[in-house]
Amino acid sequence: MNNDILKVVCDQKHIQKVCKRLGEEITKDYQGKTPLVVGVLKGAIFFMTDVVRYMDLYLSIDFIDVSSYNGGTQSSGKVNLIKDLDSDVAGRDVIIVEDIIETGRTLKYLQDLLKDRGAKSIKMCTLVDKPEARVVELPVDYVGIDVPNEFLVGYGLDYQEKYRNLPYIGVLKPDVYQSK
Ligand code: 5GP
Repeated sequence: MNNDILKVVCDQKHIQKVCKRLGEEITKDYQGKTPLVVGVLKGAIFFMTDVVRYMDLYLSIDFIDVSSYNGGTQSSGKVNLIKDLDSDVAGRDVIIVEDIIETGRTLKYLQDLLKDRGAKSIKMCTLVDKPEARVVELPVDYVGIDVPNEFLVGYGLDYQEKYRNLPYIGVLKPDVYQSK
């Protein structure tokens, strides 16, 4: 599996540093609050579990699953809700945790959905941002790292459901998906 990677964009050590920085920033911003932290499946699972452990807060967690990629390397442009939250978000301070933001469509969809359900506040946290690829403008409150517009895998990010378990984020060799 490691042989399919062209280059490492963010290694394990750097990921942990970023999680610590973001977790501590959120801890400061949410003093006296009990936020609901929503992880977006499946890509954000590793980031979510790491970053919340750097938050010194009474918080609850939940997960939502949406899809916009259908397993390939191009966003379909349409967001589908696959698994809904178990929690009621009305009156809650919600922090949405994403693995990566590209066009911004997924986060816009989630923001609108949770706003409609009466969330008191909604902030966005992403490990990786590809600002060059943005189609929908929206503020992202907590950003780990900015990367160029390349297709990435690892630390939750998949290609056809594979590579999520790589402990780092890297660029897949183009021949891996061109040969399929
Ligand atoms: P957006 O809706 O912002 O275009 O894209 C967000 C979703 O697209 C992410 O949650 C992720 O599932 C997927 N995505 C965007 N860029 C990449 C990438 O480089 N690699 C992988 N594996 N998924 C990506």
